[in-house]
Amino acid sequence: MLGAMQDWPLRVSTLIDHAAKYHGNRPIVGRSAEGPYVETTWAGVHAAAKKVAQALNHLGYGSGDAIGVMAWNTPRHMEVWYGVSGCGAILHTLNPRLFSEQLEYIINHAGDRVVMVEPDLVKVLEPLVPQLGTVEKWVVLTERANMPQTTLPDAIAYDELLAMADGDYEWATGDENDPCGLCYTSGTTGNPKGVLYSHRSNVMHALFASTPDCIPISSTDVVMPVVPLFHANGWGLAYTCALNGAAMVMPGRDMTAPGLYEMLEKGVTLTAAVPTIWLGMLQHLRQNKLSFSTLKRVVIGGSSCPRAVIEAFQLDYGAQVIHAWGMTETSPLGSVCSFKPEVASLGAAEKLDVQTSVGHPPYGVDLRITDDAGEELPWDGKHQGKLWIRGYGVVKRYHRMEKDAAEPGTQWFDTGDVATMDPNAYVRITDRSKDVIKSGGEWISSIDLENAAVAHPQVAEAAAIGVPHPKWDERPVLCIVGVNGARPPKEEILALVGEHFAKWQIPDDVIYMDELPHTATGKISKLELRKKLNGLGYV
Ligand code: ADP
Repeated sequence: MLGAMQDWPLRVSTLIDHAAKYHGNRPIVGRSAEGPYVETTWAGVHAAAKKVAQALNHLGYGSGDAIGVMAWNTPRHMEVWYGVSGCGAILHTLNPRLFSEQLEYIINHAGDRVVMVEPDLVKVLEPLVPQLGTVEKWVVLTERANMPQTTLPDAIAYDELLAMADGDYEWATGDENDPCGLCYTSGTTGNPKGVLYSHRSNVMHALFASTPDCIPISSTDVVMPVVPLFHANGWGLAYTCALNGAAMVMPGRDMTAPGLYEMLEKGVTLTAAVPTIWLGMLQHLRQNKLSFSTLKRVVIGGSSCPRAVIEAFQLDYGAQVIHAWGMTETSPLGSVCSFKPEVASLGAAEKLDVQTSVGHPPYGVDLRITDDAGEELPWDGKHQGKLWIRGYGVVKRYHRMEKDAAEPGTQWFDTGDVATMDPNAYVRITDRSKDVIKSGGEWISSIDLENAAVAHPQVAEAAAIGVPHPKWDERPVLCIVGVNGARPPKEEILALVGEHFAKWQIPDDVIYMDELPHTATGKISKLELRKKLNGLGYV
């Protein structure tokens, strides 16, 4: 016997229907790819998304077809976002910062039949066309009048696509487990791996992401996703904002601190991005003596958020930091740092210490830490081991792979991260397993070293790396980028680090660099950094 309740499959079209019907006037504004400021509403996004879906069906695309989308965070991207999955197709987000071989690989691997691309990004894809065997149709996300010169074969403009539809359209129906979105991890080693989200996983993620201890967003919020929608499922924000009827500000392609600041001042109350963006923003605020008029909360994740950044946002700029951890493979939220009663009662400094952890898992996510033999480790805040995850939004098998990525049966997925958990279930990520520094058989957290170093006011960015050592196996060195080219004395930096570390854990050297290499998602690329150090004779 089944329960006798109504049958409402968890499909993402229900999110945009809800937003349009009950929060239809809420504005979705932002910079278009061409630069000007554009405005629509949830009702407007809904209407255009229906046309996108209808036009794709008209062209013969729909159920199960992969549609690649290479777009900045714009209101139009929201229309395409819901239009593609609304017609039953799979929204494959493409990161323009990937190496061209990686882009070629993922478009072919996904089997994208249509690719939609911003006018300023056509040149990223043009050289790849001869190698792209599955793409039949190119859509440039602009009006016919603004079409760039392009060699993309028979490319049509977005308004031409919309003109094929009248908008009188019923969303594709089907099982909630149908595929809905596809996002490849940047793949620092080997080929990128595809995570194929289902309608159900995205709706469930939007539901638990909206719980009060996670990233509560309400209809009174104005949310600006700085994190690109193509990075790790856009942190789910395109879905959570619709579910809660929040207004959105979309920053477009300008990721500079002045450009983002200008957009944040358009009434934004909550924003989200990786730490590098916020380090740049804090410098900009300080140099220009600026403050925020409306910003209340900043979600920071993707890599570890230094304490100094949390402190500055909260104490100097009045915006609460929500430190979160997640992965493309986990939709992406895995844990979020909110205050349980045990933490809420602590003093200000201790609370800040807790905020450098990535908090506790929301409903829908299950975590554990184990030693290398697979034995579960105690939650004492000291034992560090492999972090495993399972839940509604966690990958089971990478796209088109033969074997499951999660353990068959138990469904535990090895995150590749090393972490501790404390008695209140707060998780602290100490490293990626491949970045752990092993000195004399003991582990030193590269993340903790980096965070201690960036507390120095003249250090803009820091990366700790283990270099081979004849006696100790490996020893840590710190690579530093100074604020505006500054070179703060080695002794000062190491003394600062020494306040938090035992003597044997303090790096042997500080190496000054003009810049650190970053990955396509804005994280420090340890792989490239090792190569660079190799060139300098370190590794
Ligand atoms: P990509 O490598 O393509 O950028 P992801 O965004 O999926 O892909 O990367 C996920 C990884 O980012 C996690 O496994 C973890 O190592 C790191 N990460 C994410 N958030 C945090 C955080 N708050 N603190 C430390 N590491 C983080």
